[in-house]
Amino acid sequence: MSETILKVNNIHKSYTTGKESFEALRGVSLSLEQGEMLAVMGSSGSGKSTLLHILGAMDAADEGKIWLNGELRKDYGTEPAATRIRAEQIGFIFQDFNLIQDLTVEENVALPLMLAGEKNRVIWEKTDQMLEKVGILDKKKNAVTELSGGQRQRVAIARALITEPKLLLADEPTGNLDYNTSIEIMQLFLELQQEKDHSIIIVTHDAMVAAYTDRILFLHDGLVRDEYRCQKNGNDMDRIVDKFKMLSLKNTSEVSDMCHKTEEPIYVTKNGYDDMVIMSMESYESTMRQAAMYRDIELSEKQIEAGQTRDARTALREIQQKL
Ligand code: ADP
Ligand code: MG
Repeated sequence: MSETILKVNNIHKSYTTGKESFEALRGVSLSLEQGEMLAVMGSSGSGKSTLLHILGAMDAADEGKIWLNGELRKDYGTEPAATRIRAEQIGFIFQDFNLIQDLTVEENVALPLMLAGEKNRVIWEKTDQMLEKVGILDKKKNAVTELSGGQRQRVAIARALITEPKLLLADEPTGNLDYNTSIEIMQLFLELQQEKDHSIIIVTHDAMVAAYTDRILFLHDGLVRDEYRCQKNGNDMDRIVDKFKMLSLKNTSEVSDMCHKTEEPIYVTKNGYDDMVIMSMESYESTMRQAAMYRDIELSEKQIEAGQTRDARTALREIQQKL
């Protein structure tokens, strides 16, 4: 059995602006296996960045548990532990690269080692190795402002990898890149995953990007609503797009169209927040697996009670009765 590198259970996070409070995450649970590449997909505002910042120890959750390398870390999002976790265990990659404009390519990449107080010889040796790995060693003396978007993201990836973190987190890493450059960056993630056994979480709203990963979690309104394991048989993109659309279906005719189109059994349940949640069977089974994993037997029993397996047509009839 593979090892779980990161596991989170029931993460909640609210933002307060003035008197208004908004719950961006409403009980997110997930786990990441060693060597796995996971995508978190969701439309804008679904809570993707909020989640990734918490996983990256850049922000603290209001509620929920986080295990890193099998160890329950109550101090995950709080200083001084958070700084250590970020420096030693996590590489973070941003949509807008977050490079320091006044530094050269090699200085940007070397920075985390300099901050860690590494010896000069080691710093420049590792920096060269890392720049070579991401394919921009020939640009090392350039200012980052002289690079293309794809090249800048390569610098950012090299910087994230230089401390050899086990966990790589990327927030829409291809969001500012064109289609072909996005493919190049995803190929690079694949190479990293294959050669070094990095565990990677990529946040994206792009089905093409998600199709490169092993597994996709669909986030909607601060909850994981569905899951898909990529089959790598050429059909993933279509399935991902269908599931993505399914997240925001609002009325029965939309659900009906989608059920007929995908011919996939769906599962209807109540989750305490919305009137109804429509999940694929795959997602239902994964919820059950998670429930068992966390020994949350009460939850699983409640869910079994709430609705048994139904085919799409039966589920639809029920939805119509409830509306
Ligand atoms: P995504 O990355 O999926 O687009 P975010 O995690 O950035 O979504 O945001 C989720 C929700 O939380 C949004 O409604 C957003 O407006 C809100 N939000 C995010 N950050 C803050 C903040 N610092 N203060 C107030 N609200 C925030
Ligand atoms: Mg975001």
